Amino acid sequence: MSGMPKIAVVTDFDGTLMEQDVGDELMLAMDVLTQPQVVEASRLFGAKKAGSLAWINAAYPLLEGRQEQVDRVLERVSLRDGAQRFIDFCEQKEVPVTVLSDGMQYYIERILSREQVKVSQVIANPINYLPDGQFQFGVQNSNEACKWCGCCKASVVKQLKEDGWQVIYIGDGSSDYYGSGFADWIFARASLAGYLMEEGTLFYPFETFHDILNVLSSNWERYANGTADRRLSGRFPAACTFPEA
Ligand SMILES: [Mg+2]
Repeated sequence: MSGMPKIAVVTDFDGTLMEQDVGDELMLAMDVLTQPQVVEASRLFGAKKAGSLAWINAAYPLLEGRQEQVDRVLERVSLRDGAQRFIDFCEQKEVPVTVLSDGMQYYIERILSREQVKVSQVIANPINYLPDGQFQFGVQNSNEACKWCGCCKASVVKQLKEDGWQVIYIGDGSSDYYGSGFADWIFARASLAGYLMEEGTLFYPFETFHDILNVLSSNWERYANGTADRRLSGRFPAACTFPEA
């Protein structure tokens, strides 16, 4: 064991690292939300009768063959305030950053590359426009015990914990309800913050990455040694199931 703190950051993309929910912007601009199968999928998702995987299956195939239009929408989205400063801070501290998203790999990688944001890994649904123009469609979920979400964020965070990392989780939405529950510390905004508040789970509220840096940079030693405030203690989301070990 080295003496270095083994801390990993996991951040959601849409509405978290990004100012906007890029997936929502795309679906709205591309008139996907008004298609009958998507209207129905949205109704089931809203009523919690289906998870995001079913919604993704209904909506994302409608982006096939529309790369140019998608790219135009991507031109008008931007990083959340302080995001680049935060990424630089993590690099300085040798903290790996995972972008963990239930969105589309194509737009995440395109935007990160444009903004010159370097992260350790991007884990998202393998939905892409391939170099030969083909549309690739898939979901990231490899959890044989649960197919509720497209990307099983819980599996990813759980694996990081099993590998010995202390995990700082940053998120904003419903796809983060499950993944964040397996982390050590949570920074939350928007509906994730509301959900955690109702649940009584401890978290730090944020709106910009400057807010997050204010907490982390002044208390870094206490994250490194695991004693920082608001550490979670094994109240895992009851909804998540995993294959028997
Ligand atoms: Mg989000």
